[in-house]
Amino acid sequence: MNSYTRIPLTELGSGELESYDTQVILNDDFQDTHGRRFSYLRLSITDVCNFRCDYCLPDGYQCLDKTEPLSLEEIRQLAQTFAAHGTRKIRITGGEPVLRKDLPDIIAALKQTPGIETVALTTNGYKINQHIDSWKAAGLDQLNVSIDSLDPKVFQTITGHDRLQEILTGIDRAFELGFKDVKVNAVLLKSHNANELNSFLNWIKTTPVTLRFIELMETGQNPDYFAKNHLSGEQIKQQLLANGWQQKIRNKDAGPAQEFDHPDYRGSIGLIMPYSKDFCSSCNRLRITALGKLHLCLFGEQGYDLRHLMAEGKQAELETAIQGLLRDKKATHFLHDGQTGAIQHFAQIGG
Ligand code: SAM
Ligand code: SF4
Repeated sequence: MNSYTRIPLTELGSGELESYDTQVILNDDFQDTHGRRFSYLRLSITDVCNFRCDYCLPDGYQCLDKTEPLSLEEIRQLAQTFAAHGTRKIRITGGEPVLRKDLPDIIAALKQTPGIETVALTTNGYKINQHIDSWKAAGLDQLNVSIDSLDPKVFQTITGHDRLQEILTGIDRAFELGFKDVKVNAVLLKSHNANELNSFLNWIKTTPVTLRFIELMETGQNPDYFAKNHLSGEQIKQQLLANGWQQKIRNKDAGPAQEFDHPDYRGSIGLIMPYSKDFCSSCNRLRITALGKLHLCLFGEQGYDLRHLMAEGKQAELETAIQGLLRDKKATHFLHDGQTGAIQHFAQIGG
């Protein structure tokens, strides 16, 4: 690791640039009553995780429900249903998706679904080196790896695993295999990585990843942790702008991240700031849990069971049910009022 000067995240300018491309919209695309369409599905394939990230599963995974996760066939059916109604990108998430032995088969099934253009995976990077060739062969298009600190000790403190170097090696392998636009997710945490901006910037000077700083979000289980650790991404935004980073123009379907680049850096930066104004207006995503529940919002009050509609002969019912449920999608979350919804932690839904 290069040596670096630590500067606090809490320094910095302003400026914002946004424009929208046009996109093709078909009448039978899934849509809500606020005019939003859903080109992006986040699909959790397990809620099991082997890490103990202190903002997510500080006591490790606890099995509260022995119901089997979605089968490969159910996943295939969901993908076909969503693709037929406008979904173009599916992200596989968890828990830790790599813990499912049939992950390459799931990737392949999604990739072979007519209409699905992009299959993405979010992983904690566990044994990435061992698996990444098979993911690539199965058709994986995009890789997101979560790395909350580039200091091995801090990484271990956060996750309970001394695996940082192994994960960084796995990212190098991803580049060798030709993955483009590898993203690294780092949750901003006051007590762990608040002084690591320079370290991350140093890394992306020569490493062509999109580094995405995610504001810590409050969940049912972490209110005290949230109160102690939440850091606004706005401080980083101002710091970047003051140091020559330029905010990128966003496509209409780009999702809620604000992105920045700099001519001297091979990597770029994304900021995900769910507490910022208008965060929900660009919402283009729906979520399905590993047990087949549709969540209209990460912070919604409930998930809606779709599994009983996945039986043979019920396809039309499944589609009608999803269209109907979308009428309940709220314009925004209510996080500012401390309403975190039904989810106790993100491993339950996949973030
Ligand atoms: N286990 C995989 C991983 O960590 O990448 C996939 C699932 S994890 C729930 C997906 C993303 O959610 C990770 O980048 C993680 O850091 C993020 N996350 C988890 N809990 C969070 C929270 N309370 N606030 C913000 N991000 C969170
Ligand atoms: Fe596991 Fe991901 Fe949650 Fe960490 S953030 S505990 S790796 S599900």
